[in-house]
Amino acid sequence: MMRVAGKRVSPSLPPWLLIQTANFTTQHAFSSPSESHYSNTEMDAAQEAHNREAFRQAIVNTLERRLFYIPSFKIYRGVAGLYDYGPPGCAIKSNVLAFWRQHFVLEENMLEVDCPCVTPETVLKASGHVDKFTDLMVKDEKTGTCYRADHLLKDFCKEKLEKDPKITQEKAAEFKHILAVLDDLSVKELGAKIKDYGITAPDTKNPLSAPYPFNLMFQTSIGPSGLSPGYMRPETAQGIFVNFKDLYYYNGNKLPFAAAQIGQAFRNEISPRQGLLRVREFTLAEIEHFVDPDDKAHPKFFEVAKLEFLMFPREDQVSGRSARRIIIGEAVSEGVVNNETLGYFIGRVYLFLTSLGINKERLRFRQHLANEMAHYAADCWDAEIECSYGWIECVGIADRSAYDLRAHTDKSGVPLVAHEKFAEPREVEKLVITPVKKNLGLAFKGNWKMVVEALEGDNIFLTGLQLFIEGRQAMGEKQAMEMKAILESKGEAEFQICTLGKDVTIKKNMVTISKEMKKEHQRVFTPSVIEPSFGIGRIIYCLYEHSFYTRPSKDGDEQLNVFRFPPLVAPIKCTVFPLVQNQQYEEVAKSIAKSLTAAGISYKIDITGTSIGKRYARTDELGVPFAITVDSTSSVTVRERDSKQQIRVNVEEVAAVIKELELPPNSTAFGINLNLNTDDMEKEDWTEDNFGGGEGKGDSPNRVHTCPTWGRLIGPKKLHHGDEYELSLFECFLMLEALAMAAMIRLVKWLSGNK
Ligand code: AMP
Repeated sequence: MMRVAGKRVSPSLPPWLLIQTANFTTQHAFSSPSESHYSNTEMDAAQEAHNREAFRQAIVNTLERRLFYIPSFKIYRGVAGLYDYGPPGCAIKSNVLAFWRQHFVLEENMLEVDCPCVTPETVLKASGHVDKFTDLMVKDEKTGTCYRADHLLKDFCKEKLEKDPKITQEKAAEFKHILAVLDDLSVKELGAKIKDYGITAPDTKNPLSAPYPFNLMFQTSIGPSGLSPGYMRPETAQGIFVNFKDLYYYNGNKLPFAAAQIGQAFRNEISPRQGLLRVREFTLAEIEHFVDPDDKAHPKFFEVAKLEFLMFPREDQVSGRSARRIIIGEAVSEGVVNNETLGYFIGRVYLFLTSLGINKERLRFRQHLANEMAHYAADCWDAEIECSYGWIECVGIADRSAYDLRAHTDKSGVPLVAHEKFAEPREVEKLVITPVKKNLGLAFKGNWKMVVEALEGDNIFLTGLQLFIEGRQAMGEKQAMEMKAILESKGEAEFQICTLGKDVTIKKNMVTISKEMKKEHQRVFTPSVIEPSFGIGRIIYCLYEHSFYTRPSKDGDEQLNVFRFPPLVAPIKCTVFPLVQNQQYEEVAKSIAKSLTAAGISYKIDITGTSIGKRYARTDELGVPFAITVDSTSSVTVRERDSKQQIRVNVEEVAAVIKELELPPNSTAFGINLNLNTDDMEKEDWTEDNFGGGEGKGDSPNRVHTCPTWGRLIGPKKLHHGDEYELSLFECFLMLEALAMAAMIRLVKWLSGNK
């Protein structure tokens, strides 16, 4: 998108807030941005809930009818949480993934891998999933039906807030606070709240059990013997971690580097709901960016540092404030975001999502609350997108420190570490703990090994990590020096051995603790990992909601559905329609179809005699951005879906034109910077008269407003100085055509042999 001064035309409010009263059951009316009128009147919570539901219904009906998705195994009445993607859904998913590869894998030279979904138990035991990948569940005490405990509490609070007219301000504040900190509640707190509020099973009103953890992984066994347990992977990341050693070598033993993987993940959700948002099998696209824990700077951070978007830091959530616009560079320098690399990926995720068509006003980055975050994580932010279900986590961006690599190092015995070679050897002071095994053996008999492991924690690499993974504490430097002092003054010290679950007495003759100077030629360390993890299905669903609107038909007798997908993600890029049924036009249509195929552009050709209006409506509902209408044998019209504007293009050039229009927003495909600067514009003496006719301003970036096409586009919209207006790619194209840039590009391509 190119931005110049103009009226704010991108909708920042959810569509269901834009309409005060609408009979959605018979005729819904979610206007296109240019046709809608924002209402400033407060909408009450009940009306809003009703509108939201109706809006969702309208979308879901369209999505299912046009086969964007299909409930899986529908003829057998389906299975909760499993969905198929139909033809347009598949095409959109494939476009989103192609752009993901371009935006992340290609841009950062990431190493892409593709690992199996079936994973041996030992891998997921090491990662902690076997023991900890759980959600809290409650059961209907009479029927045994299962529910997710936090969802019941969430629904209860939301319902009270939306539907209880007599709710006191105090209670409303309490429920809002619970909603804000829901993810932070412990099992005990969650159980207590469910009990205090008298929450019962939604279907039967029977009492509920106390909450207890349920592991979300689908278990299986590998091979016919049943002796080798496995699971369907709940995330793709583990495949990358276990390959770290080889990938590091492949990368020339250099850090930082990132590996990426796209693939299916499986989670046996307790009570899947919210359609495509909470499913039992879904596509994840994950990045594991490995970095030196002592240097988390990112060389390209400056490229995103000035981006400003909605962020929701932990403190703001707890104190009941709202998300606010923050410049990512400032968030990092002020320590709100832990480090540059994490900040870099937050910025890149923002660019990725908004390029896909996610409304930037309905996208926020929420920091995890203290309890919500895994104990080992340094910082976590979720990209949340607002849709009719509320704010939904679509991308998790976490600094997971060295946890995963350490866990697999420990379990597999293969050191997943990186090396930093010193130019000159360095003298370093090292803690050396030497257990006297003979004396420990005599004192602790069968348990002596566990005592040795606990003592050696800090200087035996693997053992220390093993202890850490299993929730036990290896002896660190501080503790070791304290023990040394006690042993020297008292001759014995109490020492807790977590593996034994008790304290033991360590005597002076059982261990020596000292610090020694040693020469080191290299530093060996476990890299930290920054992990952006994208739920592709969730992003796509939110994109459906953000792209959907209706507009009246030409006769005004019905509302027509439109998906405002950017060309980049649109399932089909263009249609080819002969205006009327005749042999010549059909020939032209077929030759255009051939050139579109050759250019790799998806299209739909329709040579039926249906009225052109009906053909447009059918394809607008699929979000097809461009329609090529053949109304002569030498040139055709190209109509843009949202503006309905048309341009005339030569038959031989039309495929190339569509190809250019398909490029991602913010693309500099024409070799000039399309990002006009609003500030620069405002510095200029801009009057309405300037539109379309003013004099050029030399090298000023806004000189383009002098071009006739520009005037044609903007002039009729009666914009005023200081207003904002977003140019669609199509409009950019028109403008550049007028500037003869397209001709220049063609010339350059011709000269370079790339016709
Ligand atoms: P997590 O590993 O739980 O942070 O999940 C990573 C991403 O996967 C999330 O940001 C979601 O976008 C997506 N995700 C998680 N669970 C589901 C689910 N049940 N259905 C669809 N997407 C999911």
